[in-house]
Amino acid sequence: MSVATSAPVNAECSSWQEMAEQVLEGRAISRDDALRILKSKDEELLAILDAAYRVRHQYFGKSVQLYYLKNAKSGLCPEDCNYCSQSKISDAPIERYAMLNAERLMEGARKAAESRARTYCIVASGRGPSDREVDHVAGVVRQIKEKYGLHICCCLGLLEPDQALRLKAAGVDRVNHNLNTSERYHPEICTTHTFRDRLETLSICRDAGLELCAGMIVGMGEVHDDVVDVAMKLAELNVESIPVNFLHAIDGTPLQSQHQLDPRFCLKVLAMFRLTNPKAELRVAGGREVNLRSMQAMALYPANSMFVSDYLTTPGQKAEEDFRMIGDLGFQITAGDYESSKLLELWKVPHEKTCAAESPSGGCCG
Ligand code: SF4
Repeated sequence: MSVATSAPVNAECSSWQEMAEQVLEGRAISRDDALRILKSKDEELLAILDAAYRVRHQYFGKSVQLYYLKNAKSGLCPEDCNYCSQSKISDAPIERYAMLNAERLMEGARKAAESRARTYCIVASGRGPSDREVDHVAGVVRQIKEKYGLHICCCLGLLEPDQALRLKAAGVDRVNHNLNTSERYHPEICTTHTFRDRLETLSICRDAGLELCAGMIVGMGEVHDDVVDVAMKLAELNVESIPVNFLHAIDGTPLQSQHQLDPRFCLKVLAMFRLTNPKAELRVAGGREVNLRSMQAMALYPANSMFVSDYLTTPGQKAEEDFRMIGDLGFQITAGDYESSKLLELWKVPHEKTCAAESPSGGCCG
């Protein structure tokens, strides 16, 4: 994608392309430049995406990594995160169940492999897991690794050091624990734990040798500075993976009436995250379908990964539509380790049904 650029007004960088070049030379963009992306006019959007795509392409080419979520324990959470349908203050009509047994978690792993996901995310509601829950998850992870070879990311809430070590020993690759919002705005969305608690869990996981996945939820009433705060903090923490969620306001939660996002702003947010965290996996995560709508595909110019299939308590776009979108972009899915021809056949059937006509090649909790 190549788009003519115009200079951002009063920018430290004289153009969006200069910003990309600065990043590719290994120099971080300034906070003012990051803010400037979020405040830019819609007329600048293609030029901004072009700059972000240069950086994305440098580190990830045309690859797209897919993640598959399994809500291993739903609802029943004593915390009061305002955005969450599983919290004690939510009236949302969701399923509520305790930790799934090994058979159900293995079933989720099979679906993840069939969906060509590289990473299986095991997510449990709650403030943090009991030791028994950690041991249960650790036991299942050993089986999943042996049978499917999937990368495993666990999102179990606040962790103690010995719990993180036990997960690592079982083969867990990564832990997700989102910052969700800035330190300044955090008390507005949650009072039962603090931003510092969240940082502490990330630090514990890093010390245990686990990779970090941490991101945010945009659209909860925060201001642009808060979004930049999170991006800068994640760059400082050097996290490997950043899921950017766009609030899907769920009836029955305190944020049910919060609808402040439009697709163009969502794309600017993703571009800003790419330019502030150039080497991190950047995932367009929850709320993709409802907030980006007809512009979903463009999210993959700055982002290099996405969830496939459903989210924790809301449905996602069908996997075959995601595959078609990726194919239409000319991008390729980074295959998982479990790639038996049988599973690829399972994917081809629905894909070819929807694609053949157009393509001659057959074309947290957190
Ligand atoms: S985000 Fe996690 S900790 Fe917060 S209410 Fe939801 S399940 Fe509980």
